[in-house]
Amino acid sequence: MTRVLLGSLTAIALAALAGPAWSQAPAQPAAPSAQPAAPAAQAPPIQTRKVDGTDNVYIFRNGNHQAMFVVTPEGVIATDPVAYGKPTGGQQYVDEIKKVTQAPIRYLVYSHHHYDHIAGGKAFKDAGATIVAHKKAKERLEPLKDPNTPLPDETVDTERTITLGGTSLELKYVGLNHSDSTLIMRLPREKIVFVVDLLPVGRVPGRGMIDFHPLESEDSIKQIIAMDWDRLIPGHPDSGGRLGTKKDAEDQLKLLQDASAEMKKLGQDGKCWDTAEKEFKLSGYANMPGYEQGLPFIARRYCGLWGRGT
Ligand SMILES: [Zn+2]
Repeated sequence: MTRVLLGSLTAIALAALAGPAWSQAPAQPAAPSAQPAAPAAQAPPIQTRKVDGTDNVYIFRNGNHQAMFVVTPEGVIATDPVAYGKPTGGQQYVDEIKKVTQAPIRYLVYSHHHYDHIAGGKAFKDAGATIVAHKKAKERLEPLKDPNTPLPDETVDTERTITLGGTSLELKYVGLNHSDSTLIMRLPREKIVFVVDLLPVGRVPGRGMIDFHPLESEDSIKQIIAMDWDRLIPGHPDSGGRLGTKKDAEDQLKLLQDASAEMKKLGQDGKCWDTAEKEFKLSGYANMPGYEQGLPFIARRYCGLWGRGT
């Protein structure tokens, strides 16, 4: 494969790409501009890159979503097909892996049950992979029968370690948080975690708040911070595709705690929904990417908690 190092131009394009995508907010209509249209720095729609400092960990990105895969002499452990709305996306991901190795794809691990991350698994199943997910993911996917999302073959309750070709990948369930089915994936040797949606890197969360569990998420993030890792691969190429750090996780925890504290006052003053949603501001975060798009979703979710008890 072509090893792609993120150039600054690509990073800029990625940052622009990651903008509204993380919050999944509709794109802003283009404002009239006095400037002539210039060729924008376009990130390619699909990109595979090796994680610096490792010899076997890769990030596959398709549009605004990304997943980790690990190559071993005995086969590949892939995660999240990231092909929602992209009928050829699963096969493209498999093809990218085949450019790196001819070893078989042995596992496909779903990070959680949300389709934007796990639709498109058929190509992996056809390639012989065993699909692994948390047991709640299977419970949620079963009745919906999404034609693009194969059910897991094997489920995890609290934890499991997949060991293949000398590499270990730990799958750990740390409770309710961004979803009720999120598996935290950790490579102990490489000290890398793959955490999808719960810990956006350098970014305000958005539309994903709809089924977010506010108080439990704080507990989950504290558990993740306590784990042994140095770098975090997020499920979206936040902040130009850079990997996250413990500081990013601590900052996101603080953001959620600040949001909760602010809405607690408004909610307990009887101002939810309308008044509280209008008055809610996340002071101190206005310059963080995703602030404008994310604010209404955060306000509504925390109004649900402090004004409704949900
Ligand atoms: Zn999600």
